Amino acid sequence: MPTIFTRIINREIPAEIVYENEDIIVIKDINPVAKIHFLVIPKKEIATLNDISQENKYLIGEVFFSIAEIAKELKIDKDGYRVIANCNTYGGQEVFHIHFHLLAGELLGPMKN
Ligand code: 5GP
Repeated sequence: MPTIFTRIINREIPAEIVYENEDIIVIKDINPVAKIHFLVIPKKEIATLNDISQENKYLIGEVFFSIAEIAKELKIDKDGYRVIANCNTYGGQEVFHIHFHLLAGELLGPMKN
């Protein structure tokens, strides 16, 4: 069964797409917790951070390269931003297709909660 993010990638369900290339897609989070809240998602279905392997580890570099580019494009690079990846139960992961939350546009406060 494809993940909800794969269904977005396949245009089966709608999302606000910010950026896309061969390896990743960046969408607006449906339930934003900051003025800017994007999800940076490798297109390959990797369930959790624990499943990053020798074979797919380059995708994480792609993720952070795209974040740096988006930050410059949106001019949030100087003020700053936060990147979060939740893993499994204690991390509060809800969607088991790895993704990185990019939060920006305001002072984000303490890291926990
Ligand atoms: P997690 O808790 O797994 O790190 O985060 C999953 C995120 O995906 C949540 O912030 C949630 O709001 C977002 N999300 C879940 N379903 C959808 C959807 O259908 N569309 C979009 N754009 N975001 C979603």
